[in-house]
Amino acid sequence: SAQVPEHDLTDGFHLIIKALRLNGLDTIYGVPGIPITDFGRMAQAAGMRVISFRHEQNAGHAAAIAGYLTRKPGVCLTVSAPGFLNGLTALANATTNCFPMILISGSSEREVVDLQQGDYEEMDQLAIARPLCKAAFRILHAQDIGIGIARAIRAAVSGRPGGVYLDLPAKLFPQVMDAVEGEKSLVKVIDPAPAQIPAPDAVARAMETLKSAKKPLVIFGKGAAYAQADEAIRDFVETSGIPFLQMSMAKGLLPDTHPLSAGAARSTVLKESDVVLLVGARLNWLLSHGKGKSWGEPYSKRFIQIDIEPKEMDSNVEIVAPVVGDIGSCMEAFNAALAKGWTQPPADWLATVSAKKEDNIAKMALRLKKNSTPMDFHGALGALRTVIKERPDAILVNEGANTLDLARGVIDMYQPRRRLDVGTWGVMGIGMGFAIAAAIETGKPVLALEGDSAFGFCGMEIETICRYNLPVCIVIFNNNGIYRGTDVNPSGGSDVATTVFVKDARYDRMMEAFGGQGVYVTTPDELYKAVGAAMDSGRPTLVNAVIDPAAGTESGRIGNLNPQSTVRKN
Ligand code: ADP
Ligand code: MG
Repeated sequence: SAQVPEHDLTDGFHLIIKALRLNGLDTIYGVPGIPITDFGRMAQAAGMRVISFRHEQNAGHAAAIAGYLTRKPGVCLTVSAPGFLNGLTALANATTNCFPMILISGSSEREVVDLQQGDYEEMDQLAIARPLCKAAFRILHAQDIGIGIARAIRAAVSGRPGGVYLDLPAKLFPQVMDAVEGEKSLVKVIDPAPAQIPAPDAVARAMETLKSAKKPLVIFGKGAAYAQADEAIRDFVETSGIPFLQMSMAKGLLPDTHPLSAGAARSTVLKESDVVLLVGARLNWLLSHGKGKSWGEPYSKRFIQIDIEPKEMDSNVEIVAPVVGDIGSCMEAFNAALAKGWTQPPADWLATVSAKKEDNIAKMALRLKKNSTPMDFHGALGALRTVIKERPDAILVNEGANTLDLARGVIDMYQPRRRLDVGTWGVMGIGMGFAIAAAIETGKPVLALEGDSAFGFCGMEIETICRYNLPVCIVIFNNNGIYRGTDVNPSGGSDVATTVFVKDARYDRMMEAFGGQGVYVTTPDELYKAVGAAMDSGRPTLVNAVIDPAAGTESGRIGNLNPQSTVRKN
């Protein structure tokens, strides 16, 4: 009531900020607007890092990758309906990739929305978000803020991590309550992602299977990188002596140059291995569902799988030894078993892998040395490969078609969680959001390698990069189009082909518009120098790297996924 002195009251604004901070969530990625503009201001005033983007999808991708890098849910803040929907793509993508994040959206008044009376930005956001994330909650009363945020945090990081939606109606923010009661209502989440110890039987079964292998292989996925069990993983590989593959974002968990890395012999080991241990990697499309020609069928394999999600087992093929638990605990249990007795894999298997590897590495070296103008992908990637080799601590963000697929194979990674890319969906537009969050969360220099098409999905955020003066160097592989820049309109009409852009666009000048450094390069040598200088200076830089428009292939490495018409005449 009016008689109560102001300092005895608190409100939704303050309680939300306090609840987040109490749980170590001190960064917000978002876009201001009704009804959360003042909330952002107050969060900043309270000492939170509030990073304002130009579009919610990019803020959402930033929050998602912040979650992946820190194991704390990344927080994205959006306005109602359209802003919420813009953030939703990132929330769904985070859930698909097992990244923990919380999308907090302001929303309109329940009473009006539920009667569909046409409120400002009316939308039943909770219902729309629910099927696209791991959990969805709404808080209606100030006294529930503590519990609501605790539930959101637990849902995001426990078990298989994922995206959580938190709906905060406009009316909640100014709702007042007694300050002391408010303080008491806050919850500090204890042990938000509890260890999940694997059953001893399951570990024993897995070790028996592994011991019986003549041609064992380990595959690490981004779940293994997320788990931050780096030492236990290294011990396991080096003690067992089993060759390993690292999925795209797991690259660098162990250096790609490690003697047991089978990365350069990927197709050989997939075909010829007899027992495969999957660690935080799903047998989805990225691994051809664990069957078919690429797995050497009709020759059969036995799979062991370590995953925190029990339902993942047998999702595509039979798993003969499922091990459900968190990767840190599982790897430690495996290491304890190894210590009790282990024989190294047969020498002829190791020799087969090594021979194939050396052969492929030698072939690739020739392509990377190419110094042609205009550059092809390999020539340009040869330069960037050296930039990363010289700065193994830097973070590489990567998206595009050919720019993605070829860079994955060419650029060796040396440290865990340094490669961030399009993930499970192959979604375009993660580049700038990931780069921004990587810089903010780690303070390390970031190289964002973008196809010209991929950059178009998020390019306006270069203003954000300049505004916060982040150590991000963007390289655009500019081949004038999607896949290639050479298509022609099959109708002969005056519109350009559906996959080509304005020729020789000067993306470097966009960067200059915001006070960043823009560089235009046409040779691998110039590229190497420009990127190296940018990475060392920490200045926001965009390098427009001119690539031969005829270089590249349709859909990069996944052209086989394009449906083909057998009756088309053109
Ligand atoms: P990739 O695309 O790199 O192959 P995926 O995203 O397909 O990786 O698989 C990651 C897997 O890791 C998911 O099945 C997820 O449940 C699992 N995972 C994530 N975090 C952990 C963890 N801490 N412990 C065990 N498994 C985890
Ligand atoms: Mg292109």
